[in-house]
Amino acid sequence: MALYKQGQLLTQSQHQAFDTLLPPGSDASNPGIYRCAVCGDEIGIAKGHVLPPQNHHQHVPGQGPIRWQLLVCAQQR
Ligand SMILES: [Zn+2]
Repeated sequence: MALYKQGQLLTQSQHQAFDTLLPPGSDASNPGIYRCAVCGDEIGIAKGHVLPPQNHHQHVPGQGPIRWQLLVCAQQR
């Protein structure tokens, strides 16, 4: 689970981008922290990069494929 210290520097959002589950290798149109909705693994993605491929981390049999979900979106000025 992602950690933070200065909660006053984060703003909660209801934007649908946080609800979308993205397959491995997708374009990450929003830079920030992504979490695998299946196993909880987290990664940071820079602007313009793609999400890691299916072999980024391993799921136990039966868990299904990696599904990345935006957890924290970095806002650039
Ligand atoms: Zn996973």
